[in-house]
Amino acid sequence: MSRCISVIVSVYNEENALERFYETTNRILKETAAAYTQGPCGYQLLFVNDGSTDRSAEILDKLREADPDHVSVIRFSRNFGHEAAMTAGLDYACGDWLIFMDADLQHPPAMIPAIMDRFAEGYNIINMVRTRNETAGTLKNITSGLYYRLINRISDVKMEPAASDFFAMDRAAAEVLRHNYREKVRFLRGFVQNIGFRKTTLSYEAAARVAGQSHYSFKKLWKLSMDSIICFSNMPLKLGIYAGFLSGLLGVLLIVYTLFTREGAPSGYATIVIALCFMFAVLFMLLGIMGGYIAILFREMQDRPIYIIEDIRDEAGTGSKEAG
Ligand code: UDP
Ligand code: MG
Repeated sequence: MSRCISVIVSVYNEENALERFYETTNRILKETAAAYTQGPCGYQLLFVNDGSTDRSAEILDKLREADPDHVSVIRFSRNFGHEAAMTAGLDYACGDWLIFMDADLQHPPAMIPAIMDRFAEGYNIINMVRTRNETAGTLKNITSGLYYRLINRISDVKMEPAASDFFAMDRAAAEVLRHNYREKVRFLRGFVQNIGFRKTTLSYEAAARVAGQSHYSFKKLWKLSMDSIICFSNMPLKLGIYAGFLSGLLGVLLIVYTLFTREGAPSGYATIVIALCFMFAVLFMLLGIMGGYIAILFREMQDRPIYIIEDIRDEAGTGSKEAG
């Protein structure tokens, strides 16, 4: 059976970029698929139309009619967001290698041959790292740097700084993500970095958008950052415990201070201060304890895999357990 490269493209109101994207990517894919070092293979361009309200649907239909062997289109009933679009692409792509790209040519298709070379070297996951983002202003670059530093500090996974939604995985990694990490609050580029396997990075220069405008407003980026931090870290839930310890400690100091300086103060003053300090410390600690339980509930609900097996070497067939 011949093997296949799937390029997954999320599309939301990209009428002015789609044709150029198709031309460039199709040309490069054709060459790459023919010249792939491990033997020629087929390719698929899987567009996920995320409820576009412009002419994108029409253009995609035209592309598919003109090249039905290579172009597939999934159309959402409404806009569900970029993460949902990438997830649908992941689920429906039929390739042995999946490459996720934006439709605006910010992710250079010229990198596809280099990605395939990495697969040929035996890597399962290739994270594309931006060296420069021409369209993002200094503010966006600084906040993105801060965000990655924060998430790496407070969560268990190590995220590649400057990682993007441009990444590639082989079938083994895709199968894991098709069955696990099916949370509703999603951060696919984080999941990709979380599942193990042989990973490598390639750097690329993010080009300027060919047409149209970014759909990620500051508000949307803020939501994505908050969601991903909460997705990957229990730390915010545990703030209560730390606040409890801190207010307990400050309370003790304040109690000592009040006891020494209560001469001349109105009667009952020391009692009020002590009672307040005590109550706040207890309250924060209780919040922290509840946070701890919620964190466990949250992890259970996310239902992430306890382990991920890459392969089992068991020629004797002694272990027959279904693994997952
Ligand atoms: N996109 C999408 N659904 C959305 C918003 C964006 O599928 O709700 C697509 C969009 O068409 C593009 C990609 O996701 O192909 C990245 O979006 P954009 O270029 O606006 O983000 P930026 O590159 O500025 O971060
Ligand atoms: Mg873009």
